[in-house]
Amino acid sequence: MPTTETKQEQKTGIIADIALEAKNFSMYYSNFKAVKNVSMAFPKNDVTALIGPSGCGKSTFLRSLNRMNDIIPGTRMEGEILLDGNNILDPTVDVVELRRQIGMVWQRPNPFEKSVFDNVAYGPKYQGIRNKKKLEEIVEESLRKAALWDEVKDRLHTSAKALSGGQQQRLCIARSIAIKPRILLLDEPTSALDPISTMKIEELVVELKKEYTIIIVTHNMQQAARISSYTAFFLMGDLIEYDQTNNMFLSPSKQETSDYIAGRFG
Ligand code: ADP
Repeated sequence: MPTTETKQEQKTGIIADIALEAKNFSMYYSNFKAVKNVSMAFPKNDVTALIGPSGCGKSTFLRSLNRMNDIIPGTRMEGEILLDGNNILDPTVDVVELRRQIGMVWQRPNPFEKSVFDNVAYGPKYQGIRNKKKLEEIVEESLRKAALWDEVKDRLHTSAKALSGGQQQRLCIARSIAIKPRILLLDEPTSALDPISTMKIEELVVELKKEYTIIIVTHNMQQAARISSYTAFFLMGDLIEYDQTNNMFLSPSKQETSDYIAGRFG
């Protein structure tokens, strides 16, 4: 009879191609341990959902994956997060380059107070691309990948703030894509959106996984079930269960997961 840990390892051990891996990772706000000794691997070109009740450490963990927590005073991290075998927590890591490779889209759409075009061109320009034709190509390609091109191609030079909330969120995805990341971190990207905009983002995420590894925090379990291949369930900073999404929702191995999925708390 395998122990629970062995069963868990067997299940997650089927991830053949790993994009990013946390090993015994913990994260503190001063003395408060918000993420506790988490070990999990994220599959390449696939969608992994992080679920759990509010305050269980999902966003904190997500922000750790591209060192976004560094900007919060008093934070401390332990353990390892491996990208191509290198620990991204190492103080010598160039966090600007890390965040180019691991992009982030936030809960509320946050386009810059610039035109649609300039929002998407911002990153490539920052990287030194000045050629107008090249920038136009990148902007079109990124907007197409974000399923927004047809809606904005005639208004590229109007303010991004004039777009609807759903369009602004797809613009933020286009802005992330423009600098050619490998991994996209999405922090509840549809929580401020209406159902139709939510559906478009979900369809987009499923499409984008062909090219990118996607890690999404969602409080919406149906959303996790619809778009992710793997789901991790967190509770008070602990990773309670990590499994293929179907297994997790149909036959969770832990009582806490079962209670959460059944809506008994959270
Ligand atoms: P979730 O994304 O699951 O809602 P969070 O990662 O936002 O959870 O929060 C995890 C815990 O860390 C919570 O107890 C929260 O109050 C705490 N926390 C989050 N951000 C900060 C911060 N900037 N400073 C101190 N504590 C924080």
